[in-house]
Amino acid sequence: MEMDAGLWALEERKDSITVKGKHKKQLKCDTDSVAGCVSQRACVYCGARVVLNPITDAVHLVHGPIGCASYTWDIRGSLSSGSELYRNSFSTDLQEEDVIFGGEKKLARAINDLVEKCNPKLVFVYSTCIVGVIGDDLEAVCKAAAKKHDIEVIPVQSSGFIGNKAAGYRAACDALTRLIAPQKSVKMFRNRSINYLGDFNLAGEAWIIKNYIKQMGIDINVTFTGDSNYEALKKAPQASLNIIQCAGSMSYLAQKMQEQYEIPYIRVSFLGIEDTSESLRRIAEAFNDKEITRRTEKLIKNEIEKVRPTIEGYREKLSGSKAAVYVGGGFKAISLIKQFREIGIEVVMIGTQTGRQDEYDTINTLVDDGTVVLDDANPTELERFMVQKGANLLVGGVKERPLAYKLGVAFVDHNHDRKHPLSGFTGAVNFAREVYSTVCSPVWKFVQQGRQSL
Ligand code: SF4
Repeated sequence: MEMDAGLWALEERKDSITVKGKHKKQLKCDTDSVAGCVSQRACVYCGARVVLNPITDAVHLVHGPIGCASYTWDIRGSLSSGSELYRNSFSTDLQEEDVIFGGEKKLARAINDLVEKCNPKLVFVYSTCIVGVIGDDLEAVCKAAAKKHDIEVIPVQSSGFIGNKAAGYRAACDALTRLIAPQKSVKMFRNRSINYLGDFNLAGEAWIIKNYIKQMGIDINVTFTGDSNYEALKKAPQASLNIIQCAGSMSYLAQKMQEQYEIPYIRVSFLGIEDTSESLRRIAEAFNDKEITRRTEKLIKNEIEKVRPTIEGYREKLSGSKAAVYVGGGFKAISLIKQFREIGIEVVMIGTQTGRQDEYDTINTLVDDGTVVLDDANPTELERFMVQKGANLLVGGVKERPLAYKLGVAFVDHNHDRKHPLSGFTGAVNFAREVYSTVCSPVWKFVQQGRQSL
């Protein structure tokens, strides 16, 4: 592969793309996107919205033009065991007149209406690009509304242009930090439970992990933010350990909780058999309790015995296939490399929207020589590397799906829209099954035939 012969569409992108074994340079990552390169990344507001949206009984009010709200309407396949309020998308629908004269009065009216209609205990108000430009004082409007209605109204400072998607994660974590801060008069007590950070209960994934942890003899205090609610989140400072699945979105909150409440944290991943087993063991180790360790080993042994024959069956059918991966965060990319190895597939291209340097270093140690590693990619780059590396499959989200289908390549959705869980031992089987059904689908034969007849 001629890596340096015009491989990148824009010269400014060259430090964000490397080939393992060929380039020694460190990958440039965790920076703003190059203007004009049509990044696959979502904006700051979208980053904040996806983190907070699974809080089921909150009103999520988007202060901005209607397009921002529709872009993220019901964006995650997060499931709820209670309220369904979060599945609505409310917007102040800012128009030209509001942009000229300011949107604060309209925002205050919208909050009044929503409180009257929905009677929420919690309202998040998201700032969008135009609000940042016209300078509406979200803080002041939210403060006045909170006082008037005696509920929590929290501004989320997420104007789309103030950085990249990772800035949206931080804005969401700042809002959560405000939400969980105890009232001065209330004395918090610590219990032997875990806060589970960075699981959004897509297709009920948080429930699967909660069940494992319960079998280990440990309680989940609250999940951030899948299937969580106002009351549950308020108890977050009581936990004795934070575990983080989606590190990109939640490491910042975990650090804040360590500083403010002295809750230690560990990173985990429940994607694939190897990482799920290792993560459960690390949680047990953190509690340093013989009975928890015994239960954990029993759980891992039983679950692996259940799923191993099925995974082996798929491995035989998939061995030798090649995968391209483009996902949101680094933790998921790292686990996917290991998970693909479990089913006999080599990863030939891998990238993320918000991966950090330490995560790319780990990716670099895991992949084989010749693998293309890239940060904050655009469609041109993804298509080019998939073709050059002969990928049979792309793993990504809603924005990557059409790229794969246009090229006649199989696709697996590992993002918001999927309807089946991919976490834990159960998820490992679902993943292998989905990879098999798409890679081995007879449809690709017809795509090839169609190409040849052109
Ligand atoms: S906040 Fe800005 S970048 Fe994000 S959806 Fe709205 S207009 Fe687009």
